Amino acid sequence: MSTKQPSRRTKSCQVPARVRVCVRLRPGVGTGQGQDVPCVRGVDSHSLEILNWRNEMATMKYEFDAFYGETATQHDIYMGSVRPMLHHLLEGQNASILAYGPTGAGKTHTMLGTPDQPGVIPRAVRDILQMTRDASGDGWKYSVSMSYLEIYQEKSEAFRHHFHLSQLRFAIPQVLDLLQPSLHDLPIREDRNHHILVPGLTQREIRSFTDFESHFLPANCNRTVASTQLNQRSSRSHAVLLVRVSRSEGWPPSARRAAKLCLIDLAGSEDNRRTGNKGLRLKESGAINTSLFVLSKVVDALNQGLPRIPYRDSKLTRLLQDSLGGTAHSLIIANIAPEKRYYFDTLTSLNFAAKSKEVVNKPFTQETLPEIEASKRPCEDISSVGPEVKK
Ligand code: ADP
Ligand code: MG
Repeated sequence: MSTKQPSRRTKSCQVPARVRVCVRLRPGVGTGQGQDVPCVRGVDSHSLEILNWRNEMATMKYEFDAFYGETATQHDIYMGSVRPMLHHLLEGQNASILAYGPTGAGKTHTMLGTPDQPGVIPRAVRDILQMTRDASGDGWKYSVSMSYLEIYQEKSEAFRHHFHLSQLRFAIPQVLDLLQPSLHDLPIREDRNHHILVPGLTQREIRSFTDFESHFLPANCNRTVASTQLNQRSSRSHAVLLVRVSRSEGWPPSARRAAKLCLIDLAGSEDNRRTGNKGLRLKESGAINTSLFVLSKVVDALNQGLPRIPYRDSKLTRLLQDSLGGTAHSLIIANIAPEKRYYFDTLTSLNFAAKSKEVVNKPFTQETLPEIEASKRPCEDISSVGPEVKK
C-alpha cells in the first residue's frame, strides 16, 4: 500500500475570457402613453439607444456583445448567448449566468420562463444532461447534480450603515437552502484552490429532466416573494441554481474533474423611492440594493485592475467570487423595460452592464486526484471574517 502523503496535482491551462454582456429589452406593456411611452429602442443586434434626459433632442448609444429586442424569443437568447458557454462545463471549467435588472423587466421570464416559453434554466439543464450522456464512454463517466439556494437579506457592514442596529433582530437568514428550507444561514467558504463552497447545502443527483423538475419545481415555492407596488410577485431575493458536472475516469476512479454552472436570478435593482417601499419592505430592498451595489463595486475594481476586489463585502459577491473575475466564463443578461417609468432604472442597468463587459476572467481547467477531493480538503472558514467596507 502506498504510504505517500495525499498530494495535490493540478493541471491548469489559462485562457483569458471576457465576461460577456447582453441586454434584453422586454416588449412594452400598458397604454403606450404618459409614463408608458417607450424611451429605449434597438439599433442593431449589438446596440441600442436611450433618450438623453439632459437633452431631449439627443439619445445615448450603448453597445454590448448582443442586444435582444422586443421580438427576440427565449430560443434566440438561449442559442445566441447561453448555449455556446455550456461546453466549458464538460472541459472542467466553471460558468455562470446572471440576470440583472429592475423588478418587472423580465429577469424571471428570461431565466425561468413559462411552460410554453421555457427560459435559460430549463433549456440549459436539458442540454447539459444530453451533453453528458453523449460524452460518456471511453472510460469516462459523467454525473450531474443540483443545489438551489436563496440569498435573502444581507447583514454586511454596508447594511448596518444604512439601517439602525436594532432593526437587525428582524434580519432573516442569509443563505437559505431551497431544497431543504429548514437549513438557513449556511456559511460560504473557500477551499485551497479558491473554489467557493457552501458546506451543508443539499445536493441532488439528477439523471433526467424529470428528476430535475421533481426537485426544482417544489423548491421554487420556497422562494421568498413579496408584492410591491411595481410587481405582484416581485422577488426580493437572489436565487442561485448550481448545476455541477463531474467526470470520473476508469474504475476505481483515477481522475476526477468537476465544474459548476451558476444560474442566478438577481433581486430587482430598482430604486426604493420609486417603488414606494416602506418599513420591512424598505429594509429588504435596501439590503438587496446594498448587495447589488457591492456587485457593481466588484466589477469596477476588476475593470480597473485594483489589487483588492471587495468580494467579501456581501454574501452575493462572495458566492460569485469564482464567477466574476475568477475562474469562470460569465454572462450577464441585463433585462430592461422600454417604458419611461423605468427610465432611471434602465440607465442604472445599462451603466452596470457597460462596466461589466470590461471584466476579463481567466478560466482554467483543473484535474484533481481522487484522494484530494474538494470536500475532504481543509477549508478556510471565511464566514467569521468581517466584511471590509470602505466608506
Ligand atoms: P422580473 O423577474 O425582472 O421582475 P418578470 O420576468 O416577472 O420580471 O417579468 C415581468 C412581466 O413581464 C411578467 O408578466 C412576464 O411574463 C413579462 N415578460 C417579461 N419579459 C417578457 C418577454 N420577453 N416577452 C413577454 N413577456 C415578458
Ligand atoms: Mg422575478
